[in-house]
Amino acid sequence: MFIVDAHLDLSMNAMEWNRDLRLPVNEIRAREHGLRDKPDRGRGTVSLPALRQGNVGLVVATQIARYVAPENKLPGWFSPEQAWAQTQGQLAWYKAMEQDGEMRMVKDLAGLDEHLAVWQDGHADTKKPIGYILSLEGADSLITIDHLETAFQYGLRAVGPAHYGPGRYANGTDATGQMQDNGIALLTKMEELGIILDATHLCDDAFWQALDHFNGHVWASHNNCRALVNHNRQFSDDMIKALAGRGAVIGMALDAWMMVPGWQRGVSTPQEMDCSLEKMADQVDHICQLTGSSDHVGMGTDLDGAFGKEQTPYDLDSIADLQKVPVILAGRGYTQEDLDKMMHGNWLRFLRNAWS
Ligand SMILES: [Zn+2]
Repeated sequence: MFIVDAHLDLSMNAMEWNRDLRLPVNEIRAREHGLRDKPDRGRGTVSLPALRQGNVGLVVATQIARYVAPENKLPGWFSPEQAWAQTQGQLAWYKAMEQDGEMRMVKDLAGLDEHLAVWQDGHADTKKPIGYILSLEGADSLITIDHLETAFQYGLRAVGPAHYGPGRYANGTDATGQMQDNGIALLTKMEELGIILDATHLCDDAFWQALDHFNGHVWASHNNCRALVNHNRQFSDDMIKALAGRGAVIGMALDAWMMVPGWQRGVSTPQEMDCSLEKMADQVDHICQLTGSSDHVGMGTDLDGAFGKEQTPYDLDSIADLQKVPVILAGRGYTQEDLDKMMHGNWLRFLRNAWS
């Protein structure tokens, strides 16, 4: 089964975790033996070979760098210029992977069709480049709105205006409040350029405001359901219905605290919380029941998004295990057509529509 994963922080792992993602997962883990600087050391689940092994041939890959004002205690850069420079380093890594034949940027319909043809050529044994659509998680690093145009020119195709906490353009998870003029101006420019709005991480106020002001294509790259795990990071049923009404696809995330209620970071373990891939299927079921179709669900795992095996389903060792998901969903009565849509078809339909 061909799989599209709509949210992976690949370059963040390369540049901030110092992971050479060309290596097998086990070798990346071994290289981190004894490191204590991050909680997920030695527990990564993503690498380019693991993506190939799992037939995950197309991903949405991020640039990510937060700006923090003096009173903001989240980790981040102390000026937008530093955050911009960080994202340019991340872009340079993607370009180096392209030069090495490991990855391929997909930024338009023709490129998408060419890339899919390579993955469907019937030669599963040959090394194929991982296709990536460039996305920006949190817009803080755009020094000015003009920088969005620069970014579009180098291939940026989706923007989530917010991440955690207060943002320069929009407030995100755990924050509240409406966007100001610059946030609305960002949405206007995105719409003009045809950049996809990623509704993930927008705080509730900004979420509804963004849907009102933005008339372009909206997706949610990595988001689960508030009805199952009650937290502002998750979508309420009303939000899910509104997104479905806009033709959105919502990527299911594999971060354990978003999958099972009561998760305590650094304390809970996937085994004791019974966090398996079945819990992802629960999220899928909820959205399908709520919207009455399988058209709005996709994969958006966020694997290695600053957490590793200690905070993912216990029956997933590497991202290649995503192949277990369609088996689990088939067991719940989904048809082959449903599975094709949820594992890749919905994202591809969305992209064809957005880029036509
Ligand atoms: Zn995120």
